[in-house]
Parts: sequence; C-alpha cells; structure tokens
Amino acid sequence: MSLKYCQGPDCHTYHTQDRLKGPKGNKTNQTRRRTSLYYGEFCDTRCQYAWLSKYATMAVNHFGRLTEAKHLTEQNAWVKDYDWRTDDDSRRYFFINQITKEQRPLTEAQYNDTSYTLNER
Ligand SMILES: [Zn+2]
Repeated sequence: MSLKYCQGPDCHTYHTQDRLKGPKGNKTNQTRRRTSLYYGEFCDTRCQYAWLSKYATMAVNHFGRLTEAKHLTEQNAWVKDYDWRTDDDSRRYFFINQITKEQRPLTEAQYNDTSYTLNER
C-alpha cells in the first residue's frame, strides 16, 4: 500500500513528534504521509484550511465561479434521505422533494451513488 502525502502547504512547519523523521542527529520536520488521510487530501483540518486559504480563489476560478444566485425550485429540490423501518430493523431509502414533500423510493445502491440525482442541472 502506497503512502499519500498531506497536501497542506505548511504541514512540515507544525511541530509534532510524528513529523520529526530522518536519521538520528539529522531529523527534520516533514510533511505527514499516511496510507489514508481522514480529511481527503489532508492530515487534519489545519492543513485543509491552510490549503483553502491559499488556493480557494484559484480553484473557484478554475472550476467555475458562481456569478448569479441559484434558486431552489421543484425541479432541483430533491434530496436523499432514509428512515429506519421498525419491522425488520433496516433502512428505507428515498428521495424527498424539499418543496412539494413528494417522496420517491430509492435503492441503497442509488442512495450511495453520489452522481445519481433527480435534480435538473
Ligand atoms: Zn498535514
């Protein structure tokens, strides 16, 4: 399993025992690396916020800046939800429209599929 480096721009500047690495007498503070990082590309929220404050504007400009207000309508008001069935102790998955309150059933696979939506883009 390969190790991923934390993408925090200042990760190596924070003083913790686990960042201190290298041969005895020549240890340096180093960027954390892990097999999996709990905060996406970052080791903790401090590194996540450091990256955001440095790169958020560039990222928004790259991926597309919102230039007008979005409006919640019946066509884009679908959200996924679930509740517990009491009879067999399992989850019941469904879409619910935040405006009309209409519900439509969902499978667990559809619920977990982040690209599956009823919303118009
Ligand atoms: Zn970090």
